[in-house]
Amino acid sequence: EVDGKIVLRENKSPNGIVPTLKSFFGAVDRGSWVAWKLAEDPANPDFEPVIEITDDFGTYSVTRLPLSAAQVREFYHVTSKEAFWPILHSFKEKYNYDRVEWPNFREVNWAFAEAAAREAAHGALVWVHDYNLWLVPGYLRKLRPDVRIAFFHHTPFPAADMFNVLPWRREIVESLLACDDVGFHIPRYAENFASVARSLCDVVVAARAPVPPHLYSDGTALSERGVPKALSYDGRQVTLSVTPVGVDVGFIEERARRPETDTRVKEIREDLGEAQLILSVGRTDYTKGGVEQLASFGRLLEAHPELHGKVRLMHVSVSANKNMTIYSDIQGEIEQSAGQINGRFGRLDWQPVALISQAIPFEELVSYYRAADVAWITPLADGMNLVCKEFVAARTDDDGVLVLSEFAGAAVELHQAVITNPFSNRSMDTAILHALTMPVDERVSRMRQLRETVRTYDVKAWGNAVRDSHDHAGGAPAPPT
Ligand code: UDP
Repeated sequence: EVDGKIVLRENKSPNGIVPTLKSFFGAVDRGSWVAWKLAEDPANPDFEPVIEITDDFGTYSVTRLPLSAAQVREFYHVTSKEAFWPILHSFKEKYNYDRVEWPNFREVNWAFAEAAAREAAHGALVWVHDYNLWLVPGYLRKLRPDVRIAFFHHTPFPAADMFNVLPWRREIVESLLACDDVGFHIPRYAENFASVARSLCDVVVAARAPVPPHLYSDGTALSERGVPKALSYDGRQVTLSVTPVGVDVGFIEERARRPETDTRVKEIREDLGEAQLILSVGRTDYTKGGVEQLASFGRLLEAHPELHGKVRLMHVSVSANKNMTIYSDIQGEIEQSAGQINGRFGRLDWQPVALISQAIPFEELVSYYRAADVAWITPLADGMNLVCKEFVAARTDDDGVLVLSEFAGAAVELHQAVITNPFSNRSMDTAILHALTMPVDERVSRMRQLRETVRTYDVKAWGNAVRDSHDHAGGAPAPPT
């Protein structure tokens, strides 16, 4: 607090959701945001629960729900990150539910539902975000039957064989079925949710919609059948919407075109000499495929001595949850792999890998997006992945190659990227070589088309599409014909 005003700390965590939602919030007339805040004694918090915030995105009210450190650990680090996260990303082997205290998860979700019930005007729309709050819709429907409820998944949604490993699967799905609208990034996740719901509850797919033409789906089946659009359950209708989130292209382009960005890009290029720059950016997480990517880079240098001194990998891997063993283990593996490559191939005048573990401020990141020859984004599973879209948005020069994992949600939109399968060594190795040797006209032609997509489906278009789906959400099922 400075001079009686609340000033938000710069967001140091490498997380794309908060700025995305803020840009959405600024456009809403009378929005109220419910979020948790750590309190020593949640019954008597030492802060004002409701504050008004004005920042670059607008003015909005924020309700801060006090949670104790133990509640945060249980609900976020244990239940959400150790049990839900691995299953959502199809990593059964990382899954651990022995430590989950389910009553605690229910209690925290109940507190969120109560806070939202207090804030919402009659008939208001309550928009619930992500798996940490899976039980909120069911509770809120009981507390406030008048409000409309929408839910958005920022992660993948897995198929039934994977999702149903969760012992609380039915309770979670029944809560989601209390929504008017359940949202996903891509058609496949909506299809998976419909099949999970059908495997657990007496649900009927009441309507299907054509897959939007710009969204390529793997295999033709979804394109032919269409994507589930509405489920009937318990006398109600729940719509499913597919709205891939975009990035704030106007903001990124403005940053990319600033003279100080030009200066910084020149400096970066001068440091590189004649080497090409491969840029890899992500959170330190097993889902991001950092270890697999470094292994591919090692094989590239092994097989192509002519590239020694001619290529540099800047691997940005930032930990958002430093206190969790699973993430410090991954960080250790990444450091070890990078160290091995540098030890084996490095020379006095050339270090093949630069490993960056501190979050890079966004302005600086934009300079690297612009300076890079290749962005190498190869998650093993990723709900959407914003980094690849930010890279494209920053390439106002129409140059640069994007190599993208087919398991990033963004791959259904970004067809002109060099698409790769990070589970296959051969696919990874040929994709990066292809990118490094791509002729300039092919690079420019691909980047122009990528830019067209990223600009058309930016964060504003996402906001409009989401509003549209909320306006047409839920309701009574259509009478049988
Ligand atoms: N990011 C950043 N600095 C960094 C690394 C990442 O600002 O050093 C930002 C990046 O610009 C992007 C977000 O972190 O907006 C990551 O979002 P993404 O959807 O790619 O992955 P997530 O971490 O949400 O799974």
